[in-house]
Amino acid sequence: VSSALAAGPSAATEAAAARLIAAALADTTGFRRLAYLTDTFGHRLSGSASLEATIDWALGEMRKDGLQKVRGEPVMVPHWVRGAESAALVAPRRAPLHMIGLGGTVGTPPGGITAPVLVVSSFDELQAKAAQARGKIVLFDAPFTTYDETVRYRVGGASAAAKVGAVAALIRSVTPFSMQTPHTGGMRYDSTVAVKVPGAALTVEDAELLHRMQDRGESIVVHLEMADTTLPDAPSRNTVAEIVGSERPDEVVVVSGHLDSWDVGTGAMDDAGGSVAAWQAVKLIQQLGLKPKRTIRVVLWTNEENGTRGGKAYRDAHRAELAKHVAALESDNGVFRPDGFRFQGTPEALEIVAGLGRMLDSIDAGKIVPGEGEADVDAMLEQGVPGLALDVEQTRYFWYHHTPADIVTVLNRDDFNRCVAALAVMAYGLAELPAPLPHAGPAPTGRRR
Ligand SMILES: [Zn+2]
Repeated sequence: VSSALAAGPSAATEAAAARLIAAALADTTGFRRLAYLTDTFGHRLSGSASLEATIDWALGEMRKDGLQKVRGEPVMVPHWVRGAESAALVAPRRAPLHMIGLGGTVGTPPGGITAPVLVVSSFDELQAKAAQARGKIVLFDAPFTTYDETVRYRVGGASAAAKVGAVAALIRSVTPFSMQTPHTGGMRYDSTVAVKVPGAALTVEDAELLHRMQDRGESIVVHLEMADTTLPDAPSRNTVAEIVGSERPDEVVVVSGHLDSWDVGTGAMDDAGGSVAAWQAVKLIQQLGLKPKRTIRVVLWTNEENGTRGGKAYRDAHRAELAKHVAALESDNGVFRPDGFRFQGTPEALEIVAGLGRMLDSIDAGKIVPGEGEADVDAMLEQGVPGLALDVEQTRYFWYHHTPADIVTVLNRDDFNRCVAALAVMAYGLAELPAPLPHAGPAPTGRRR
């Protein structure tokens, strides 16, 4: 690290940062735009008309904002469609169950599946009870520990169940808190398992109900009906706009969120909030008349939720420019109160970013810690581009994640504005550095989600 970099941001950059923070905290337009987007277009699953209508609208608004090089960059995305779905307890008593199909699941045969249930708490317990699983519906009642650990049942539960002869898989929703709200999310079929069985989530309450019945020695029978299907890939777009750099236009700072969502609620938290915050950050830099030396490019990714095809298409389309990408920022943990950024990159780059973080100390949003970047930018990060993930207060995120409750009500303007401030100051600071951040060597980063 040269002494110029170690010295931290210049006085001019610090003055600009103070202006950006003040403007972001006083802003009313960004949060209003977030509410408008989610209230007007609803949820935005890949392949849906509502996602493409949202993208058309965002491109028009970005042009009205006066951003430069506004365009949709083409991406082919998976097109999974939820059909009519239901689950019901048939024995030991009749009652509807609160369920939701997992993204990517196959449907049941017409008329559904009626089968006895085997409840297990883990993959290990399923292995130990493999002989009892044939012909049954396996329910994984795995309590939430961390998202990364517990999400394994959502992603791989159906294939694990099929492998031991089960006819369907249910999981306990991946959440630490529930009010009978089932949580969807992506699943994957293991290519080494020939049979695909349907996968769905029950609420925490219903999973525990079935588990208690099994513990009492009661025979449980469930009827499951799902008409979910996968259609051919559909055209979509990454939504892109820029402030072209005044001195080094070919060097790029990406600020981003993902515009697609699951098909329940309105995806306000995941991730319309991050998308509009990234967009608003760039809009404020532009409105204040700041002229960043490097290009600041806002990207609203398509298809984070069930394919991350947007991030991969960007990497492929911009491969020749990645060496000149200074960093890729993303907000995808909900726009709750921010405390800083997780940084993925070299120790030297981390030190420089920590220096920029000090410009956010006045709003307690400048803590820089080593960690993983976000899913959409992962394809770039694998090529050595430094990644920054906005770190926010995490108590409530997984309460609402991928549920009908993910609507703008769970967010608030003050926290959102702080996220905008953090993204704006960090993006601007990176665009003004005397030299770009050093890159890491290309390496697979092996992400979740
Ligand atoms: Zn997300």
